[in-house]
Amino acid sequence: MSTGYLWHEVFGWHDTGTGTLFPADPAAGHQPISHHVAHPDTKRRMHELICVSGLIDHLTRITGREATREEITRVHTPAHVDRIAAESEQPKGGDAGDGISPFGKGAYRIAALGAGSAIAMTEAVVRGEVDNGYALVNPAGHHALPETGLGFCIFNNVAIAAKHAQAVLGIERLAIVDWDVHHGNGAQAIFADDPSVLTVSLHQDRCFPPNSGLVEERGTGAGEGYNVNIPMPVGCGDGAYQYAAETVIGPALDAFRPELVLVASGFDPNAMDPLARQLVTTRGFTTLTRTVMDAAERHSQGRLVLVQEGGYSPVYVPFCGLATIETLAGVHVLDDAILPVVGGMGGHDLEPHQRALVDRVATHLGDIASPSSA
Ligand SMILES: [Zn+2]
Repeated sequence: MSTGYLWHEVFGWHDTGTGTLFPADPAAGHQPISHHVAHPDTKRRMHELICVSGLIDHLTRITGREATREEITRVHTPAHVDRIAAESEQPKGGDAGDGISPFGKGAYRIAALGAGSAIAMTEAVVRGEVDNGYALVNPAGHHALPETGLGFCIFNNVAIAAKHAQAVLGIERLAIVDWDVHHGNGAQAIFADDPSVLTVSLHQDRCFPPNSGLVEERGTGAGEGYNVNIPMPVGCGDGAYQYAAETVIGPALDAFRPELVLVASGFDPNAMDPLARQLVTTRGFTTLTRTVMDAAERHSQGRLVLVQEGGYSPVYVPFCGLATIETLAGVHVLDDAILPVVGGMGGHDLEPHQRALVDRVATHLGDIASPSSA
């Protein structure tokens, strides 16, 4: 088993400014702060734990590159790409599109490197250079829509990698599993009417974007049934996440039989995250990772690519990332030092209302056709 790994130091230089969540504004009471909630130190710390723990010695480093304009515009409008490029040249940078997603000067090239790194890891896996891989990129991408950035995201890294796999790498059918705690609205919108891409989003009910990611949003036209939303109630722990993995994620992939599995890997369902209200520990992320690995083994020759999305606890995200990549690589180098605390706070047993939501989603899986049944 060989696992690819990608990080570039410039991802740690993505400047999210001195606002907290909103830009600093005394009139509105927004004080400046040293760490915006999406400050890149969280991901830099994850990379450093991967190095210091020795996990890096079990991984194959993959080198990213900046995605080209042609590759980015497979997903995004030229107007969006041009606007990001122009604001990126301004002395103080700009905003991805919603006023809470600031970026500094030069961010275009960092965002293009994020998208190109998702592409590079996908190429390495599809071409068999590694069995699976983790691209630790920054900024995140899964909220970005064709015409705008959103929710700290500039370009939709995973969607760009998916389009590249279909356009260049000979992949026809692929699945995108998004376990960031916020809805994977970008892929849902981009592939809504496309039955060649199964999108599955496991997220907290109506967390972000507002009122997005309901069970009833199931794709449109020829793509109806190929978008699966699992909007988990507030307060889900490892038990609820395991049930969702076993009851929806695995079976959805079994029904679809993709040739490649991409994962939008956010660690913000974790129990210490400031931007959500879930209780997941490294046990939950290990379960999710095993679920997609097993499905990729059954249907995709093991081809599995994880790309970093959100995660806002500088304390716990590094351990969540470590456990996830340990699982991918089939090694264990370091115990989760935070688990004795967060694992003992309760909330990890599957509750009846959590089971009911997951069971309701599962009733729709019969609409997913595999190649043989299509
Ligand atoms: Zn998120």
